[in-house]
Amino acid sequence: MPKINELLKNARFLTSSTSYATLPDCIGSEVAFAGRSNAGKSTVLNVLTNRKSLAKTSSTPGKTRHINLFGLGDDKKAFLADLPGYGYAKVNIKEQKRWGEELTLYITERECLRGVVVVMDIRHPLTDNDKQMLILCRTGGKPVHALLNKSDKLKSGKRAQAVQKAKKDLAFLAPGATFSSFSALKKDGLKELQDVMSGWLID
Ligand code: GDP
Repeated sequence: MPKINELLKNARFLTSSTSYATLPDCIGSEVAFAGRSNAGKSTVLNVLTNRKSLAKTSSTPGKTRHINLFGLGDDKKAFLADLPGYGYAKVNIKEQKRWGEELTLYITERECLRGVVVVMDIRHPLTDNDKQMLILCRTGGKPVHALLNKSDKLKSGKRAQAVQKAKKDLAFLAPGATFSSFSALKKDGLKELQDVMSGWLID
Protein backbone atom coordinates (compact mmCIF):
# COMPACT_ATOMS: atom_id res chain seq x y z
CA MET A 1 0.00 0.00 0.00
CA PRO A 2 1.42 3.46 -0.88
CA LYS A 3 2.02 6.07 1.84
CA ILE A 4 -0.86 8.31 2.89
CA ASN A 5 0.45 11.40 1.10
CA GLU A 6 0.74 9.39 -2.13
CA LEU A 7 -2.85 8.24 -1.72
CA LEU A 8 -4.11 11.75 -0.97
CA LYS A 9 -2.16 13.24 -3.86
CA ASN A 10 -3.92 10.78 -6.15
CA ALA A 11 -7.44 11.49 -4.93
CA ARG A 12 -10.08 11.46 -7.63
CA PHE A 13 -13.78 12.13 -7.57
CA LEU A 14 -15.86 8.97 -7.97
CA THR A 15 -19.48 9.79 -7.37
CA SER A 16 -21.97 12.00 -5.61
CA SER A 17 -24.92 10.39 -3.85
CA THR A 18 -28.07 12.05 -2.62
CA SER A 19 -28.74 9.22 -0.18
CA TYR A 20 -26.99 6.43 1.69
CA ALA A 21 -28.82 3.80 -0.38
CA THR A 22 -27.39 5.04 -3.68
CA LEU A 23 -23.74 4.98 -2.53
CA PRO A 24 -21.55 2.42 -4.28
CA ASP A 25 -20.85 -0.81 -2.40
CA CYS A 26 -18.40 -0.64 0.42
CA ILE A 27 -14.96 -1.95 -0.50
CA GLY A 28 -11.56 -1.38 1.07
CA SER A 29 -11.28 1.27 3.79
CA GLU A 30 -13.06 4.61 3.98
CA VAL A 31 -12.52 7.78 6.00
CA ALA A 32 -15.32 10.34 6.25
CA PHE A 33 -15.15 14.09 6.81
CA ALA A 34 -18.06 15.68 8.63
CA GLY A 35 -18.59 19.14 10.07
CA ARG A 36 -20.73 22.15 10.53
CA SER A 37 -21.18 24.27 7.40
CA ASN A 38 -18.46 26.89 7.21
CA ALA A 39 -16.10 25.09 9.63
CA GLY A 40 -13.75 24.76 6.66
CA LYS A 41 -14.24 21.10 5.69
CA SER A 42 -13.88 21.72 1.94
CA THR A 43 -10.77 23.84 2.43
CA VAL A 44 -9.25 21.14 4.67
CA LEU A 45 -9.92 18.49 2.01
CA ASN A 46 -8.35 20.64 -0.68
CA VAL A 47 -5.25 21.22 1.45
CA LEU A 48 -5.00 17.51 2.29
CA THR A 49 -5.19 16.46 -1.35
CA ASN A 50 -3.17 19.44 -2.54
CA ARG A 51 -5.90 20.51 -4.98
CA LYS A 52 -7.51 23.84 -5.57
CA SER A 53 -11.04 22.50 -5.77
CA LEU A 54 -11.35 18.79 -5.10
CA ALA A 55 -14.10 19.67 -2.63
CA LYS A 56 -16.14 22.71 -3.52
CA THR A 57 -15.78 25.55 -1.06
CA SER A 58 -19.08 27.31 -1.13
CA SER A 59 -20.25 30.83 -0.44
CA THR A 60 -23.72 29.36 0.23
CA PRO A 61 -23.13 27.11 3.23
CA GLY A 62 -25.31 24.05 3.39
CA LYS A 63 -26.12 24.12 -0.31
CA THR A 64 -24.39 20.88 -1.23
CA ARG A 65 -26.49 18.02 0.11
CA HIS A 66 -24.59 15.07 -1.21
CA ILE A 67 -22.19 12.46 0.00
CA ASN A 68 -19.21 12.91 -2.31
CA LEU A 69 -16.98 9.89 -2.64
CA PHE A 70 -13.33 10.03 -3.71
CA GLY A 71 -10.94 7.20 -4.52
CA LEU A 72 -7.45 7.52 -3.02
CA GLY A 73 -4.69 5.97 -5.11
CA ASP A 74 -5.33 3.54 -7.95
CA ASP A 75 -5.91 0.21 -6.33
CA LYS A 76 -9.49 0.70 -5.05
CA LYS A 77 -8.52 0.08 -1.45
CA ALA A 78 -8.81 3.53 0.13
CA PHE A 79 -11.68 5.99 -0.09
CA LEU A 80 -12.68 9.35 1.29
CA ALA A 81 -16.26 10.47 1.85
CA ASP A 82 -17.15 14.18 2.10
CA LEU A 83 -20.38 14.28 4.10
CA PRO A 84 -22.84 17.18 3.75
CA GLY A 85 -22.20 20.06 6.13
CA TYR A 86 -24.74 20.29 8.94
CA GLY A 87 -26.17 23.04 11.10
CA TYR A 88 -27.05 25.55 8.43
CA ALA A 89 -30.16 27.33 9.65
CA LYS A 90 -31.66 28.05 6.24
CA VAL A 91 -32.00 24.39 5.29
CA ASN A 92 -35.64 23.49 5.86
CA ILE A 93 -36.61 21.17 8.71
CA LYS A 94 -37.72 18.33 6.41
CA GLU A 95 -34.37 18.31 4.60
CA GLN A 96 -32.47 18.55 7.91
CA LYS A 97 -34.40 15.56 9.22
CA ARG A 98 -33.82 13.57 6.04
CA TRP A 99 -30.08 14.23 6.17
CA GLY A 100 -30.01 13.34 9.86
CA GLU A 101 -31.42 9.95 8.90
CA GLU A 102 -29.05 9.52 5.95
CA LEU A 103 -26.03 10.36 8.12
CA THR A 104 -27.23 7.96 10.81
CA LEU A 105 -27.44 5.19 8.22
CA TYR A 106 -24.05 6.08 6.79
CA ILE A 107 -22.23 6.19 10.13
CA THR A 108 -23.87 3.13 11.63
CA GLU A 109 -24.16 0.87 8.57
CA ARG A 110 -21.17 1.62 6.35
CA GLU A 111 -18.97 -1.35 7.12
CA CYS A 112 -15.77 -0.13 5.47
CA LEU A 113 -15.88 3.16 7.40
CA ARG A 114 -12.71 3.20 9.53
CA GLY A 115 -13.03 6.63 11.10
CA VAL A 116 -14.63 10.06 10.98
CA VAL A 117 -12.82 13.39 11.00
CA VAL A 118 -15.16 15.99 12.51
CA VAL A 119 -14.02 19.42 11.34
CA MET A 120 -14.81 22.20 13.82
CA ASP A 121 -13.99 25.88 14.08
CA ILE A 122 -11.50 26.11 16.96
CA ARG A 123 -13.27 29.27 18.13
CA HIS A 124 -16.69 27.54 18.41
CA PRO A 125 -16.05 23.80 18.76
CA LEU A 126 -18.57 21.20 19.84
CA THR A 127 -21.76 22.83 18.70
CA ASP A 128 -24.96 20.89 19.38
CA ASN A 129 -24.74 19.38 15.90
CA ASP A 130 -21.11 18.36 16.47
CA LYS A 131 -22.18 16.69 19.70
CA GLN A 132 -24.90 14.77 17.85
CA MET A 133 -22.31 13.63 15.32
CA LEU A 134 -19.97 12.47 18.12
CA ILE A 135 -22.79 10.55 19.77
CA LEU A 136 -23.72 8.99 16.43
CA CYS A 137 -20.12 7.85 15.89
CA ARG A 138 -20.06 6.38 19.36
CA THR A 139 -23.32 4.54 18.71
CA GLY A 140 -21.92 3.22 15.44
CA GLY A 141 -18.61 2.29 17.10
CA LYS A 142 -16.64 4.51 14.72
CA PRO A 143 -13.39 6.21 15.81
CA VAL A 144 -13.40 10.01 15.73
CA HIS A 145 -10.73 12.62 15.19
CA ALA A 146 -11.83 16.15 16.08
CA LEU A 147 -10.03 18.65 13.87
CA LEU A 148 -9.93 22.10 15.46
CA ASN A 149 -9.62 24.14 12.28
CA LYS A 150 -8.90 27.85 11.74
CA SER A 151 -6.24 27.82 14.47
CA ASP A 152 -4.64 30.81 12.71
CA LYS A 153 -7.60 32.87 13.94
CA LEU A 154 -6.36 32.64 17.55
CA LYS A 155 -3.15 33.87 19.16
CA SER A 156 -1.05 31.12 20.73
CA GLY A 157 -2.32 31.64 24.32
CA LYS A 158 -5.99 31.56 23.31
CA ARG A 159 -5.30 28.63 21.00
CA ALA A 160 -3.75 26.60 23.84
CA GLN A 161 -6.77 27.43 26.03
CA ALA A 162 -9.20 26.37 23.29
CA VAL A 163 -7.34 23.09 22.78
CA GLN A 164 -7.38 22.33 26.53
CA LYS A 165 -11.09 23.09 26.76
CA ALA A 166 -11.86 20.90 23.72
CA LYS A 167 -9.71 18.13 25.22
CA LYS A 168 -11.72 18.23 28.44
CA ASP A 169 -15.09 18.34 26.67
CA LEU A 170 -14.13 15.56 24.27
CA ALA A 171 -12.96 13.31 27.09
CA PHE A 172 -16.47 13.61 28.51
CA LEU A 173 -18.47 13.50 25.25
CA ALA A 174 -16.44 11.16 23.12
CA PRO A 175 -14.03 9.10 25.22
CA GLY A 176 -11.30 7.72 22.98
CA ALA A 177 -11.62 10.45 20.37
CA THR A 178 -8.37 12.05 19.28
CA PHE A 179 -8.00 15.70 18.36
CA SER A 180 -5.55 18.17 16.87
CA SER A 181 -5.49 21.81 15.94
CA PHE A 182 -5.27 22.69 12.29
CA SER A 183 -5.07 25.64 9.97
CA ALA A 184 -6.11 25.02 6.41
CA LEU A 185 -4.93 28.55 5.67
CA LYS A 186 -1.40 28.03 7.03
CA LYS A 187 -1.28 24.27 6.45
CA ASP A 188 -0.48 23.77 10.14
CA GLY A 189 -1.22 20.36 11.62
CA LEU A 190 -1.12 18.51 8.31
CA LYS A 191 1.26 15.80 9.49
CA GLU A 192 -0.90 14.93 12.53
CA LEU A 193 -3.99 14.64 10.38
CA GLN A 194 -2.19 12.52 7.79
CA ASP A 195 -0.96 10.23 10.58
CA VAL A 196 -4.51 9.73 11.83
CA MET A 197 -5.71 8.90 8.32
CA SER A 198 -2.79 6.58 7.75
CA GLY A 199 -3.69 4.72 10.93
CA TRP A 200 -7.24 4.22 9.67
CA LEU A 201 -6.56 3.52 6.01
CA ILE A 202 -3.16 1.85 5.88
CA ASP A 203 -1.70 0.54 9.16
P1 GDP B 1 -17.25 24.23 4.64
O1 GDP B 1 -18.63 24.79 4.52
O2 GDP B 1 -17.04 23.57 5.97
O3 GDP B 1 -16.84 23.34 3.50
O4 GDP B 1 -16.26 25.47 4.69
P2 GDP B 1 -15.30 26.10 3.56
O5 GDP B 1 -14.15 25.20 3.29
O6 GDP B 1 -16.13 26.55 2.40
O7 GDP B 1 -14.71 27.35 4.38
C1 GDP B 1 -15.55 28.35 4.92
C2 GDP B 1 -14.74 29.63 5.05
O8 GDP B 1 -13.71 29.47 6.02
C3 GDP B 1 -14.03 30.04 3.75
O9 GDP B 1 -14.08 31.44 3.65
C4 GDP B 1 -12.60 29.56 3.96
O10 GDP B 1 -11.65 30.32 3.23
C5 GDP B 1 -12.44 29.78 5.45
N1 GDP B 1 -11.43 28.87 6.06
C6 GDP B 1 -11.38 27.53 5.95
N2 GDP B 1 -10.34 27.04 6.65
C7 GDP B 1 -9.71 28.11 7.21
C8 GDP B 1 -8.55 28.24 8.08
O11 GDP B 1 -7.88 27.31 8.49
N3 GDP B 1 -8.24 29.51 8.46
C9 GDP B 1 -8.97 30.60 8.07
N4 GDP B 1 -8.59 31.80 8.51
N5 GDP B 1 -10.05 30.51 7.26
C10 GDP B 1 -10.41 29.27 6.84
